[in-house]
This record gives sequence, structure tokens and C-alpha cells, in this order.
Amino acid sequence: MSTPTQQKHHVSFAGLSIRTSLLLGFGAMIAVMLLATAIAIISSTRVSQSLNVILDQRLPATVQILRVARAMDALVASGVQLASINTDSDRQNTFSRVDNALDALQRSLSGFSSGTADIRRLANELTDNLHKLRNLANQRIDIELKKLSAREQLLSNLQAFQQQLIYRVRILEGDNDVIRLLLSRPSPPMDQIAEMALRSAHLTPASRFYTEIETIAGRTLVAIQDPALTRLAISRQVLQTALNNAGITFKKVPADITASLTGSFSELKQIVLAEDGLLALRERELSLAIESQQLIAENHHISVLVDSSTRALVNGGLDAIDRAGLSANEIRQRYMLILLIATGIGLAGIVILIRFHVFHNVILRLSSLSEAMRFIAAGKLDTPLPPTGDDELGHLGFAVHQFQKTAIEADRRETALRISNENVEKARSELEQKAAELEHVNRKLKELSITDFLTGLANRRRFDEALETEWTRAMRIDQPLTLIMIDVDHFKRYNDRYGHQAGDECLRKLASVLMDNLCRTSDVVARYGGEEFSIISAYTDLQAAQQLAQRIRLAVESLALTHEDSSFGVVTISLGIAVAIPDQTHSTDDLIRAADQALYDAKAGGRNCIKTASLTDKETQPVVDN
Ligand code: GH3
Ligand code: MG
Ligand code: MG
Repeated sequence: MSTPTQQKHHVSFAGLSIRTSLLLGFGAMIAVMLLATAIAIISSTRVSQSLNVILDQRLPATVQILRVARAMDALVASGVQLASINTDSDRQNTFSRVDNALDALQRSLSGFSSGTADIRRLANELTDNLHKLRNLANQRIDIELKKLSAREQLLSNLQAFQQQLIYRVRILEGDNDVIRLLLSRPSPPMDQIAEMALRSAHLTPASRFYTEIETIAGRTLVAIQDPALTRLAISRQVLQTALNNAGITFKKVPADITASLTGSFSELKQIVLAEDGLLALRERELSLAIESQQLIAENHHISVLVDSSTRALVNGGLDAIDRAGLSANEIRQRYMLILLIATGIGLAGIVILIRFHVFHNVILRLSSLSEAMRFIAAGKLDTPLPPTGDDELGHLGFAVHQFQKTAIEADRRETALRISNENVEKARSELEQKAAELEHVNRKLKELSITDFLTGLANRRRFDEALETEWTRAMRIDQPLTLIMIDVDHFKRYNDRYGHQAGDECLRKLASVLMDNLCRTSDVVARYGGEEFSIISAYTDLQAAQQLAQRIRLAVESLALTHEDSSFGVVTISLGIAVAIPDQTHSTDDLIRAADQALYDAKAGGRNCIKTASLTDKETQPVVDN
């Protein structure tokens, strides 16, 4: 584990606390972001305004101009149609188209913006021209109708001449043929020929007059097709001359013929040359056509002017739209640049704040402090701490310094306490050991106090306690309690013959036999005193006690410890049994007395035998020796 690197002493910039400096830093960034947002809003508003100018003003105005131009073009075209109508039905259709075109123009002009006075003026001129053209069309149709009527009049006039003259011409032609035939004879009949020639001469002016009339009619019909006024003027002169010549010829025609043709002839002159005659109608027709062509030319001129005006206006509008678009684009680019710069400054501010303030003054110090705290928490209390300061981390560092001091003090105290505890624990352990030893000694002492030193059996004291305990228990559960008193036969003699130590050894062997022959672990065998032993056996009735006593007696006898001063030759024992179910009327003393009595009886009975006695019995009962 390495110790944390020692940091140089750092404080926040301008001596401000971390909280204040961070608030200032983030406040500045928010200000930059708000500025950027404001720039974006202003930019979009300005761009939107430019686009609104295009959409709300420039574009509708341009479209309006184009509509007007188109309406005027349509009006010019309908003017051309007006110049070429010939029939009444044509006139109705064309007039209706003109009306529609005029309506369209008026609609287009309504709401037309200012600064278009030229176009309005041209539109008015065009409208006037259209009205004039319509007027001319009306006049032309009137003239056309009059021309038709005059042509019919001319044809019927020609028919009148034909009726009066054609058959006379045929007669003249027939007479001429006959004269030519007669003259071809070898002897022509001169009289007849002369008569016929006279008649032919009479008819010849009529024939020539008819020919002239036909020619005049034909030329008149041709002349009313003349395409130009100059040519029509020539035709008028020619026809004037022809009519004059025909008038001269007419005078030569016999009076009988002319009488019926004078009216027709003067009518013919009226039809051809009068002010409302065919030639005059044609002249007026051509004049109207010229006027119409002039108006159409004017209309075309107006159209060209409108075209150039509208083109200028449309181009102006389009230029304005272009300029507005460019301006919007420039605004967008300019504000985008400002936005980029503002965002860049904001981002740079954030980076600088994080790199030079947050990283240096907060993260590094915090990291160093946390590492030091980790070391201290891990128990390395002498870890060098970063320096404190006037800001929050400085205060935290100071707190950690205090904590380190407290931890060192606590550690010192803990060490002292641990040593103290160890000492206490050691003392306690020693005390426990001593107590255990004492307990052991006490137990030993207690054991010794209730144990017979020579034989290891319970001593008299223990015997008394056990008898008292078993007596009480037997009385409580109403069960028999047996006491057997045992005495070594002629033991004084044994001592006298074999020595006291041998006597002791004999006593130890007898004790061992007694222990080995007990039935229950609860049975107590004690050295009652000297060479006397006793056995306390709970839950043992008389029969069982007798069996036990007998087994013990035989076992001692079977030891075959030589006792030459005994009549039995070996060491023997006498046993006295007392059995009782304890009650309140008796005590342990009664039981001991009874057992002593039985033992006495056994001694008296010859030794190496068993006698029994009860608490109430005055006589003891012998036990049959097997
Ligand atoms: P009896 O058959 O009537 O009981 O005859 P006895 O000799 O056994 O009886 P008595 O009471 O006259 O003698 C008891 C003897 O036991 C006396 C004593 O020397 C001996 N004696 C008592 N205690 C001890 C002892 O602790 N060690 C030894 N070696 N002998 C003992
Ligand atoms: Mg004795
Ligand atoms: Mg004895």
C-alpha cells in the first residue's frame, strides 16, 4: 500500500469557495448558452422576416404583374380576332371572349400595387383600343351587309339589262351570220343584205352597250375585292370612264330600247359610284381594315411595352426575391458564425472550468483526500494528509486532520486498553487456574474428609451423611433400606501374630473385596471404624441383603488370608444385617443399633456368619450359611 502523494496547497480561483466558483462558472456558461439561444432566435426571426417579405410582398406582386401581363396578352390576341370577324355569330363569340379578357384584366389590375402607373396607362389604352376595334368590327359587319345588298342589287340590275338587250344582241348576231352567208353566195341578194345591214346597224350600239354594261358589272365585282385603296382608286377611275363611255353608247342606242333602260342605267351608276355604292363601301371597308390594323399594331406595340415593363417589374421582383434570399442567407450565415463563436466560447469555458478548476482544485484534491482517508480507515494513521485551505475541501481536509488526530489518540487508548485487558485477562486466567486448583484441593480435601485413609473407602463421616440421605429418600418413596455391619474376626490376634502393617494390608484387601461385590453404584461401603465396615444399600429388601452379605462373606473366606490364630485358619468376617422401611417413628440410629445388634449376634453365634435384625425385632435372625 503506497502513501498518497503530497499535494501542493490549492485554493479555488480568485480565492472564492468551490461552491461560489462553480456557481459563477456555471452561471457564466448558462449566460453564454442564453446568449447563443438569443442569437439563434434573433437569427431565425430575421431570416423569417426576410422570407416573409419574399412570400407576402415580393412574390405576390410578381405573380400579380405576370397575371396582368398574361391578361393583356390575351386582350391583344382577342383584338386580332376582332379584326378578322365577318359574321354575326363570329362577332358574338369574339365579343364574349373580349369581354372575358377585359374582365380578367380588370381583376388582375384590382389590387395591383403602386409603382405600376405605366402598366395601368397601357392597360387603359389597350382597353380603349379594344373598344375601338369592337366598334370597327360592328361597322365592318354593317358594311359587309350593305355590300351584300349592293351586290344583289347589281346582279338584279344586270338582269334587267339582260332582259332588254340579250335577245337583241342574239338577233344582231343572227343577222350578221345571215349577211355573211348571203355574201358568200355567187350572186348575193344585195337588197336583202342592205335591209339586214341597216337593221344590224340599228342594233349594234345596243350590243356594244350591253357588252360595256357586262364589263362594268364584272369589273365592279372585281374592284370590290381590291386589297388596297390605291388600287381601288384606279378601279374607280376605270369604272367612271367605262360608265361615261357606256353613257355615250347608251345615247346611240335606239330610243325604243333606251326607254326601258334609262332607269336601270342610272341605278347602275348609283350602285357603282354613289357615296353608298359598292366602291365607296369597299373604300370604307378598306379604311376600317387599315384602322383595325393600326389599332392591332398599336396593341402589339402596347403589348411589347407591357412586356418590357412587366419584364422589368418581374425581373425587379425576382431580383428583390434573390436579394431577400441572399440577405436571409447572409443573415443566417452571419448569425451561425456568431452562434458557433458563442458556443465555442461556452464550450471552451466549460473545458477550462473543468480542466483548470474542477480537475485541479476539486477532483485532484478530493482524490488525494479520499485516498488519505482510505489509508487512515485501513489503519495507517500516520498517512500524510493534503494541506487544508479556506474552501469546502480545505474544511473537509481540516476535519480529516482532526479525525486523524482523534483516530491516533483512539488508537493509542485502544492499545493501552488492549494491554490492560490482556493483563486483566491474564490475571483472570491465573485466578481461574488458582480457583480450579483451589477447587481441586477443596475437592480433594472434601474427598479426603469423607475417605478413609487406609482403605480408600468412605469414612465414618461420609457413612453418616449417606445413611441420613438414603434414609430420607427411602422414607419419601416408601422403599426398604438395608444396613450391613461387618467386623473382622479375631483381628487383634492377627495383628499380634503378623504385625500391624500386615493387619493394615489385610484391611485393604478386605475393603477391595467389599467394593468388588457391591450390586449397585448407589451402594455405599464405608470403614465404620478400626476393623469394622458397613454397607448401605437402598431399594434392597431382606432377601437381597442376605444374598449380598453371604456373597461377601464367602468372597472374604475365599481370599484365604492365612490366620493361624483363628479357628477357621483364614481371615473371616461376621455380618449383621438390618433392613427397614423408614418412617417418622424411627431414625438412623435405630437402624445402626439394629445392625450392631445383629453383628453382635453373629459374633456370639460363632463368627464367620450372618445375622439379621429389624428395627422392632428384639431377636436377630440367623442366615443359613451355604
Ligand atoms: P472378635 O472376634 O471378638 O472381634 O475379636 P477381636 O480381636 O477382633 O476384637 P477386639 O475388639 O478385641 O480387637 C480388635 C483389634 O483390632 C484391636 C486392634 O489391635 C485391632 N485394630 C484396630 N484398628 C486397627 C488398625 O487400624 N490396624 C491394625 N493393624 N489393627 C487394628
Ligand atoms: Mg471390632
Ligand atoms: Mg474383630
